[in-house]
Amino acid sequence: MSVPSRLVVATKNPDKVREVEAVLRRLGVESEIVRDVVWPDVAETEETLEGNAILKARAAADATGIAALADDTGLEVAALGGRPGVRTARYAGPDATYEENVAELLFELADVADRRARFRTIVALVEPGGATRTAEGVLEGSIARRPRGSGGFGYDPVFVVDGRTLAEIPSEEKNRISHRARALEAMARMLAQDGRDPRP
Ligand code: IMP
Repeated sequence: MSVPSRLVVATKNPDKVREVEAVLRRLGVESEIVRDVVWPDVAETEETLEGNAILKARAAADATGIAALADDTGLEVAALGGRPGVRTARYAGPDATYEENVAELLFELADVADRRARFRTIVALVEPGGATRTAEGVLEGSIARRPRGSGGFGYDPVFVVDGRTLAEIPSEEKNRISHRARALEAMARMLAQDGRDPRP
């Protein structure tokens, strides 16, 4: 698969769209990002991040006829045996807000000394009715005792990297180091390599 000339960023979360577009621009990906298209919502019914990322990208690609990029992200907490993982968005309940999820996490870790955690993102790029590519990005960190900072979204106020939460660092810095940025970089590298390889 090569870098598509037109691309739908298949997420209805405006926080993610902002980050994905900023990272793609920084990486010099020249695809035209198509915004004025609609696709059906899909339930994240798969048991893996990879399965859900492909599900979301496939739904958008098939409905719009344009290549679609989707991501699925999980927070994996060491002391919780890797939970909430694929259930990160629904950690505190089916329609949990960012604040409710963070409160649930801090409650569950209240007496836990081992705060190690990581974000893992899988991005999937799907062509309409055809090829699929996935790539992974990981960011290691730890969970703070209480929320700090006003940037970012989701669990950013409690996810600490090098002493600061992701909500305390400027968005350009998050977009250079984040799990999502790393997954997109891996995808861009893979597509560039595909473009260089002779076609079978
Ligand atoms: P999903 O990938 O949309 O299923 O998101 C999983 C959960 O992780 C949601 O609760 C998001 O708010 C959260 N999440 C995804 N990406 C980030 C991030 O970059 N920082 C903090 N939380 C995130």
